[in-house]
Amino acid sequence: MPEVSPVRVRFAPSPTGTLHLGGARTAIYNWAFARKHGGDFILRIDDTDSERSTPENVQQILDALTWLGLDWDEGPKLDGSIAGDAGPYFQTQRGDSYQPALEKMIANNTAYRCFCTMEELAAKRDAARLAGGSSGYDRTCRHLSVEEVQTKVDADTPFVWRLKVPEGRTSIVVNDLVRGETAFPIEAVDDLVLMRSDGTPTYNFASTVDDADMGITHIIRGDDHLSNTPKQILIFEALAADDDKSAVPAFAHLSMIYGDDGKKLSKRHGAVGVEEFAAMGFLPDALLNGLALLGWSLDAETTIVTPKMLKEKFSLDRVSKNPARFDMAKLEHINSIYIQEMSTEEFVQAMLPWLEAEGLSDAEDVAARPEWYTELAPLISERIKLMTEVVPMTKFLFVDEVEIDKKARAKALDKDSETTAIALKATYSALEGLDTFDLPNVEAVVKTLPAELDLKPRVVFQAIRVALSGSLVSPPLFESIVLLGKERSLERLSVASKH
Ligand code: GLU
Repeated sequence: MPEVSPVRVRFAPSPTGTLHLGGARTAIYNWAFARKHGGDFILRIDDTDSERSTPENVQQILDALTWLGLDWDEGPKLDGSIAGDAGPYFQTQRGDSYQPALEKMIANNTAYRCFCTMEELAAKRDAARLAGGSSGYDRTCRHLSVEEVQTKVDADTPFVWRLKVPEGRTSIVVNDLVRGETAFPIEAVDDLVLMRSDGTPTYNFASTVDDADMGITHIIRGDDHLSNTPKQILIFEALAADDDKSAVPAFAHLSMIYGDDGKKLSKRHGAVGVEEFAAMGFLPDALLNGLALLGWSLDAETTIVTPKMLKEKFSLDRVSKNPARFDMAKLEHINSIYIQEMSTEEFVQAMLPWLEAEGLSDAEDVAARPEWYTELAPLISERIKLMTEVVPMTKFLFVDEVEIDKKARAKALDKDSETTAIALKATYSALEGLDTFDLPNVEAVVKTLPAELDLKPRVVFQAIRVALSGSLVSPPLFESIVLLGKERSLERLSVASKH
């Protein structure tokens, strides 16, 4: 019999924007936790903010999660289908479940009607502020008699439903799996609104009812929600049968991610969207790895954590309470390791979309000359940190005419144009004489040129490099010459020496 695991976690993004690094990290931890425990990972779309939620953002979130390599057991899928039977998985479609939940709370006396108008509430808040008191609701309507309530209802006075924060308790204790035990004094918990006068639920009510209905066992989310937790715990308790505390899920609040300046990571720090990191040339597994390490570690040394390791080794007790600092250099370093670890075949396939996007190559070309690509791949993969470097580093090999960088021209060709012309012409002759244009032959004839010409190797090789690649940085010189081929190499040497 397979072990029946009770773990059910959810990632519940609001599609008011695209998926950012912080949200992605929350998703990764939920996913890894579910996989580690053989549980279910649920994707719920908290789309109640109808003005800011868009289908495009939903799509982008699904795409970004998929690109990162995350899979989810329940929720909307990329192909438009819905998996799981705890749906609907869009909060706006769950409207029918909030009324019964409210009725349950009314029946067990944990919710009450509040008839205070906006103006009255504002006046109360102002007065409380002046008196230096709490800014929470003063509970006027909690003390109305049954008759008073009935009179207002009969007169069609608009009302909201509020949570009746229990009396006689001093605090709400959150046993947080990351932060440890955190006690919130009961005075800090307001009789918050559960249902607005138009019948729509507030975030705290909807989220809690959904989590309860979906059987969520662990709520792993950013600590910006920490102040909501005691309120939600009270709602969980109120929704559960008397004394049944097992219905309250465990919580794990993740510290925020900070930028270099110690402030919360945001657009001010540059790119923060997952799709931006994809466009910057990060590999999905590397970004997954880098994000996982923002607050979690396997041990003190390990930097490379593959998706498989995450699924097998992730644990909340190794998530740090301290804010994580986003470190671009470290992320690039991780990316470069993933690039180097790819097989030649994998790297060719990884390069292809970047080359294709620039119209430099396509699958047909790879199929037509696989050995050429096999030779190219390691020369590039050893030298780059980001996939965006593929095109600038290899473009000269694909185009008919190379564009020579201005600075490179000034430095390597024009500075001493006579000497350069001598060096390039000699290279031309040496290469022209080769019948077999392969690495040993090319290397043999080019390597000896500086001595033969009595010139510094750097001067000769830099001139050749710029003439052929257009740039002062290129893959290794002899290999570049071979990859470029005899015809193109001679042509470029001739053009550059005449200049
Ligand atoms: N929809 C909420 C958000 O995006 C998530 C709430 C939660 O995880 O409890 O912040």
